[in-house]
Amino acid sequence: MKSVEAKQQPFRGLAFFADSMHGSLARKLRIFGMDTAYSSSITDEHILNYCSIQRRILLTSDKELFKRSLKKRIGSVHLQGLTDKANMVKIFAECNIKNILYDSASARCPICNLELEKKEKKELGDLYNIIPPKSYLLNSHFYQCKGCKKVYWEGSHKAALDSLAESINQELYTISCIPN
Ligand SMILES: [Zn+2]
Repeated sequence: MKSVEAKQQPFRGLAFFADSMHGSLARKLRIFGMDTAYSSSITDEHILNYCSIQRRILLTSDKELFKRSLKKRIGSVHLQGLTDKANMVKIFAECNIKNILYDSASARCPICNLELEKKEKKELGDLYNIIPPKSYLLNSHFYQCKGCKKVYWEGSHKAALDSLAESINQELYTISCIPN
């Protein structure tokens, strides 16, 4: 049981809403297992209501929207970074997340934000048709989105995600060492 506890992501229970400017950031947060809603087509009023009702932390670069969220006592992070990585560091630092890790078992679908279901090779059925032969051979299990049914597997992107997590964790550690 202990190893299961240790593997749990430190951000369990946190949920975000990324505004229309941050689709790419939303996809990255989902891949790291964070529940991140996103819409490119709802009004600021709807965003504030949605975040308030669903208790989601608003992620926005829009200063006015950020100020309005504070007035409504909605948790929010004002993003000013030029890259998704810089914005992720700011989000995690403000949410007191000390480190992250890429774990394919807890990743969410980058397209629709739903959880993924682990599938052994023999459970894939006809789905094997859509997996490149090399990936099919190299992996013993796959993950399928419970919503859009897209199938994912650990591929070459894993090294890049591990490296992104490591780099973010180093920055978070550095920030935590700076006295207030
Ligand atoms: Zn999906």
